[in-house]
Amino acid sequence: MAASIGRRETLAQLFERNGLKLPYVDTFDEFIAVDAPAMLTYGPLTEGFTIEGVTVLTESELFATPVRRSLRRRQKTTNVDLMIRDLAELKIGDPVVHIKHGIGRYAGLEIIDTGYGQEEFLRLDYAKDAKLFVPVAQLQMISRYSGSDAEHAPLHSLGKNDWEKAKKKAAEKVRDTAAELLNLYALREKSVGHAFEFSRVDYDSFAESFPFEETPDQLAAIEAVLDDMKKDRPMDRLVCGDVGFGKTEVALRAAFAAVAGGKQVAILCPTTLLAEQHAHTFADRFSAWPVTVSELSRFRTAKQSKAVLEGLENGTVDIVVGTHKLLTDKVKFARLGLVIIDEEHRFGVRQKELLKKLRADVDVLTLTATPIPRTLAMSLEGIREFSIIATAPEKRLSIKTIVRTETPDVIREAVMRELKRGGQVYFLHNDVSTIENRREQLAQLIPEARIIVGHGQMNERELESVMRDFYQQRYNVLLCTTIIETGIDVPTANTIIMHRADKFGLAQLHQLRGRVGRSHHQAYAYLLTPGKDAMTVNAEKRLEAIQNLEDLGSGFYLSMHDLEIRGAGEVLGEHQSGEISAVGFDLYNQMLKRAVKSMRNHETVDLDEPFEAMAEINLHSPALLPAKYIDDVQQRLSFYKELAGCETFNAIESVREALGDRFGTLPEEANTLIETHRLRLYCQMLGIARIEAAEEVIVITFDAKPKFEPMRLIELMQKSRNMRMLGPTKLKIEQKTPTIESRLSYLRGFVKALDSSKVT
Ligand code: ADP
Repeated sequence: MAASIGRRETLAQLFERNGLKLPYVDTFDEFIAVDAPAMLTYGPLTEGFTIEGVTVLTESELFATPVRRSLRRRQKTTNVDLMIRDLAELKIGDPVVHIKHGIGRYAGLEIIDTGYGQEEFLRLDYAKDAKLFVPVAQLQMISRYSGSDAEHAPLHSLGKNDWEKAKKKAAEKVRDTAAELLNLYALREKSVGHAFEFSRVDYDSFAESFPFEETPDQLAAIEAVLDDMKKDRPMDRLVCGDVGFGKTEVALRAAFAAVAGGKQVAILCPTTLLAEQHAHTFADRFSAWPVTVSELSRFRTAKQSKAVLEGLENGTVDIVVGTHKLLTDKVKFARLGLVIIDEEHRFGVRQKELLKKLRADVDVLTLTATPIPRTLAMSLEGIREFSIIATAPEKRLSIKTIVRTETPDVIREAVMRELKRGGQVYFLHNDVSTIENRREQLAQLIPEARIIVGHGQMNERELESVMRDFYQQRYNVLLCTTIIETGIDVPTANTIIMHRADKFGLAQLHQLRGRVGRSHHQAYAYLLTPGKDAMTVNAEKRLEAIQNLEDLGSGFYLSMHDLEIRGAGEVLGEHQSGEISAVGFDLYNQMLKRAVKSMRNHETVDLDEPFEAMAEINLHSPALLPAKYIDDVQQRLSFYKELAGCETFNAIESVREALGDRFGTLPEEANTLIETHRLRLYCQMLGIARIEAAEEVIVITFDAKPKFEPMRLIELMQKSRNMRMLGPTKLKIEQKTPTIESRLSYLRGFVKALDSSKVT
């Protein structure tokens, strides 16, 4: 008796491979009816028993070690998981990348009769109406394309070598990037940093003064940072989380640990306003502690700045918050131990160079709201440390998002609703030439409003003073273009109204909307449009999507597709984005992963053929997940992709189990599919390029350099007289295998005979 239907599949395979084919019985009546010495059933039994000459054995009694619980499946997310999730989201018309043929559009799954039975194929459309059918067993060749603009993805022509060129170019860049990253890493490994020590009691009492319960991601990020700091290697950790997800608390805890450990902390902000805001937050949280927090920015007088500089040099200032001014030579620290960088991508090139130098010496913590794709983070595992805060603090109300045709009434109502509760409003009007007209119109429409204007043609200081006046509530409506500060937190501004919202991309809408809803008030976002008829279909879709994305966490993940390139640019350098667009993020990322891995193992990097050519296996029998077994196309696609990505026999078995548990006993076609993948792994191990197995004849094609002992093949050929070489790499076997079962069993025997590693 197996623990579940899925486990029964696994057990049955195990018996069968050892020459025992046991029938399935599901009910007592079946048990009576079936005439066999032993049979397989399933149920929640932990121990077996014997009654009336019938013995029931549970699987845990068969194995020396306890059975893995089938429900646990994999705990850790892997790159493959994320890619599967991406493929499961695939919609007809989405661009995808085929490793051999380039960028095409997904056109659905199609069942085709290949002459030997049905097989399922993914149809991809290429330029000039060319179509490509990809067998589902080769799904690992395919990944979702996300480049700068998926809607206008550059489709390739089949049979031209543009794709080869693009791939080559990207591969060169990838190699350079990997080398650079590893260099920096090696530098850090060699340099000895400060191993912080501090009293956990003090730390706990500082943590207590945080008025909220940390979110799990937040806590994980904090613990990771503290661990890094305790090590005698300089920290270089990136904490990534959407605006308002609580990154500042991570910074505060790190700062506490550093100061408690006797070091100074520098917090670098991209703008004067952000510096001011952080300085307030830090001064507040440290007010009960003998810790001096100072600010160094243009808002301070010359005299104040001089005092701060002196304090830093003689060690009386513990924490300094400032802009790039902190990076000048004039600033000397008595005992700098930790640098916290907010939104590094907003610093200039020169400043980034200065920051790079810092990295090899002191602990560095970088905060960013640009989502770093998890797959990228995983590829760089061990080179650069990431913490991802993917969920909003609890109780945070999601932002009510309202799409409306723009009318004066709608505007007045929206503004007044906010002003009446004492709040403030952003009005986004992204056109400087008409912004003054808009101001007049708003002033007439809403006499109660105190309006201030900010836009990109103002100089930095003017803008700053606008923002500061708004922040200090001297005005209650900020009429602005998208230029206005994104990082700054105005907790009392909880309504944003966007004119021509249909013109913004999804990620931009998400980010703009994120300016409100930073406190516990209900926030509103009004997305105003010129009406249905004046919008493109895609714009309508985007607005619908953002409206449905009220849940803060999922918004973060979904908007990521738009932002993957920007996220990658932030980690790898902006100059990569062209290459990423050319081959798509997924492929770029896989190349990077491979380059990093080979360089670390001191192997030569071969990216020209970044993926091992798959063995082609044709068993002349249907190998698919029939629609009557799993009717949802998307789910079939995910399972196909998962199987195609399996690198171990165990991984394949756990897919078999999952199928059994979710959809019941596997039909023969599905079983053949799974067995095909098992054979594929053998082929990979042995260096077999192709198996063509029909009822009368089997033809095996070996790689130019097979990986098994040649003697084994020779012995095999001597023993069985039905084998003959057809040329240097082709073996013909005359063997009658009338059923798929007999074919599989013959092939299993064959690959095992070649294999010396004795894998089961
Ligand atoms: P970020 O720096 O990631 O943009 P902040 O750290 O400024 O976000 O946090 C935004 C707001 O959320 C702040 O007012 C902060 O006090 C609050 N906050 C942070 N963490 C939590 C939490 N775990 N629970 C509730 N509120 C939180």
